[in-house]
Amino acid sequence: MRDLLSIENLSVAFEVGGRWVPVLRRVSLQIDEGDSVGLVGESGSGKSVMALSVLRLLPRAARVIEGRIRFKGRDLLELPETQMRTIRGGRVGIVFQEPMTSLNPVFSIGFQVAEAVRAHRPMGSGQARAEAERLLDLVAITPAGERLDDYPHQFSGGQLQRVVLAIALAAEPELLIADEPTSALDVTVQAEILELLGELRSRLGLAVLLITHDLAVVAETCSRVSVMYAGQIVETAATRDLFDAPAHPYTRGLLASIPRLGRPEVRGQLPTIPGQAPALGDLPTGCSFHPRCREVMEQCRVDEPEMARRVSGGEARCFLMDSSTVEKAEIGREDS
Ligand code: SF4
Repeated sequence: MRDLLSIENLSVAFEVGGRWVPVLRRVSLQIDEGDSVGLVGESGSGKSVMALSVLRLLPRAARVIEGRIRFKGRDLLELPETQMRTIRGGRVGIVFQEPMTSLNPVFSIGFQVAEAVRAHRPMGSGQARAEAERLLDLVAITPAGERLDDYPHQFSGGQLQRVVLAIALAAEPELLIADEPTSALDVTVQAEILELLGELRSRLGLAVLLITHDLAVVAETCSRVSVMYAGQIVETAATRDLFDAPAHPYTRGLLASIPRLGRPEVRGQLPTIPGQAPALGDLPTGCSFHPRCREVMEQCRVDEPEMARRVSGGEARCFLMDSSTVEKAEIGREDS
């Protein structure tokens, strides 16, 4: 597979009360054509800022301090705004958590999907309406022809998220960024949307960046996962390797807190990670995770760990990577 999106050492800061607060700290992420990558982290970890950076939609108070974002070899941070418009919503589609932020309640669904088609592909209104019907059918709004004239309030939450997907697909993007696309939905509908994302990926050859706070969501959907904490990527690996042998104590804590049938915790209380994520404007010294880490060492309070290779592939930002203890690290240790 060829490189599609490459984020290299990206640092972004927000101006808060007259000082610059780091929100992303030298993050790197790679997505190949047709790939599916999960970006997982708690609220405030910086994962949505990554998406906004790629689309150059950062708020005025934000500044890119360093780094590069390349899409098919082109540096998006250097691209003139006119060319950026063909990328944003064109080559790169986006779906947000709340579908109504992307839909207008006073226009029919068919009109809104057709307008999205015409914004990127020159065609007459009749042809765009036919294309809107095809797209609604693609995202399993059926019978699509009978739903074209319906309004957003006539659709359920899950159906609205499908409509937003149809709009994101209108420009035939190569990359879809889905930012918490299922967080507002109940578990059954969530599973249906994730399944649809997987189907679209294989049918259309689409690459997907799935942003979520829920590690369980990426298990079935993504081939690779990056875990974010306090503005940094702390672990990245193939999904299976990450679930089989999580190396970073934070990842192990996240995995241990996922309910699983048959595990004794289901009957009792699930393990949680102690404490709170730090405020980005008031990061601890050394490893940002050290105040919450059960395996903290003296060095962790002073020095900041760099990314280091995991035994089973991928990388993690932890001093434990320097020792053989990582090889022996298992979810079970967190379960105790
Ligand atoms: Fe824990 Fe130290 Fe690793 Fe940070 S570097 S995650 S504090 S063991």
